[in-house]
Amino acid sequence: MSTISSSTEQDVVAKVPKGLFIGGEWRDATGGATLPVEDPSTGDSLCEVADATPEDATAALDAACAVQAEWAATPPRERGEILRRAYEAVVARAEELALLMTLEMGKPVAESRAEVLYAADFLRWFSEEAVRIEGRWATAPNGGMRMLTMRQPVGPCLLITPWNFPLAMGTRKIGPAVAAGCTMVVKPAKQTPLSMLALAQILDEVGLPDGVLNVFTSRSASKTTGPLIDDPRLRKLSFTGSTEVGRQLMRQASENLLRVSMELGGNAPFVVFEDADVDAAVEGAMVAKMRNVGEACTAANRFHVHASVADAFTQKLAERMGGLQLGRGSEDGVTVGPLIDDDQRGKVRDLVEDAMAKGARCVVGGPERIPGVPGYFFPPTVLADVPTDARLLAEEIFGPVAPIATFETEDDAIVAANRTEFGLVAYVYTRDLDRAIRVIERLETGMVGLNQGLVSNAAAPFGGVKQSGFGREGGVEGIDEYLSIKYAAIRAE
Ligand code: NAP
Repeated sequence: MSTISSSTEQDVVAKVPKGLFIGGEWRDATGGATLPVEDPSTGDSLCEVADATPEDATAALDAACAVQAEWAATPPRERGEILRRAYEAVVARAEELALLMTLEMGKPVAESRAEVLYAADFLRWFSEEAVRIEGRWATAPNGGMRMLTMRQPVGPCLLITPWNFPLAMGTRKIGPAVAAGCTMVVKPAKQTPLSMLALAQILDEVGLPDGVLNVFTSRSASKTTGPLIDDPRLRKLSFTGSTEVGRQLMRQASENLLRVSMELGGNAPFVVFEDADVDAAVEGAMVAKMRNVGEACTAANRFHVHASVADAFTQKLAERMGGLQLGRGSEDGVTVGPLIDDDQRGKVRDLVEDAMAKGARCVVGGPERIPGVPGYFFPPTVLADVPTDARLLAEEIFGPVAPIATFETEDDAIVAANRTEFGLVAYVYTRDLDRAIRVIERLETGMVGLNQGLVSNAAAPFGGVKQSGFGREGGVEGIDEYLSIKYAAIRAE
């Protein structure tokens, strides 16, 4: 039985502006082109949004550049209070934003609600950071001058976000950019533009001055962002998405030597030692694997479990995964939504079939299509005895599949965990404190979850190493991405 009526769903979609948000105004794309937004649980179209042209994208940058100096000079407290009001407005509208997100992205409403609150937290956190942009004052060692160091907004930014966390990946960039005094152009993913458009509407309503935030949606990301990256007025590119696209954007951004932040793909190992609390590890595994239907850069991609506890862990995880309920995210009791599109489902299926062809044993779920169900569903799957040459140990799965491999020694576990080009996050389960510290120090990742399956927090520096990118979002570090350091040498006799 549906908990949310279809008229409520339609109302939530109808309320969102569908145009381009440029210079504080909503407008159609030049030529009036639109692109469809699909509900991945049915494959039906929800609505159409504007399909920006390269000229529209440039108009968005024009608007950002026009108010950059004025915005940089706005008192930090004022910038912070706008963010605070935005935080409150997002929380007040959490239910409708959650439903909107579920409709365009597919995850269960409870998870969307959690993302909305997580997203709002970046607005609150950076509302507090806006007034703590500090500098330094020092006397030169020889006493001959004073040294003043200040931090200033980097300038107009281009922020490109993915579809998997349609709101939080935006506020993680918009929050610090607003706090720092930068203006910006935001391009959300074409599959999930509605959450970002709703956020732009909220920021407008709470008094963000015209032109500080500009949003365009487009069928062709490269054609519309390319001219902006090449434009000498742009000073910063912050990208969250795949490593492949990140590399391409880095190359483009090198021409103008843009400041760049890259939040890219992951391949998180989830390591369970023989001294771990196996029940707690299974609990953490469910969060690390199944948050966002496995479509998270932080998703546990592969499980390395000590051979002595592997059977118990596998059996308990399979029971939990097998007990999840697939369905439309807005329906009662549903705990797993669809994948974002048919391509993604096909990729997950290929990876599972490859592992099984190489000897992996399917404990629950599997690659067979679910008959008679529309939408892009893939069943929660646990694979045991996964051989080291299985592709899904090396590639980002981005789906509800848990491959389990075993290890014998701590060294073997660390070697296996680090055997990847990625380095975003790792999860470790152990009750031995000495081991925990040793392992945390040797893991080649930007983040580690110790005895817990979730690391994301607005107050923490989120980000990776190796091919997972660089730059940090959240924490006291997050605002640095949007600030440049200026030093003044002051003559003093
Ligand atoms: P994606 O294909 O790289 O797309 C991400 C964004 O970049 C979208 O807005 C996309 O626009 C745009 N884009 C694609 N090609 C582009 C190009 N040539 N020039 C400019 N923009 C371009 O990634 P995705 O499939 O949306 O997201 C999943 C990936 O994001 C995964 O690899 C995941 O690990 C990663 N991710 C990383 C983090 C992190 O913090 N490290 C967080 C979340 C997700 P269109 O959608 O309109 O094509």
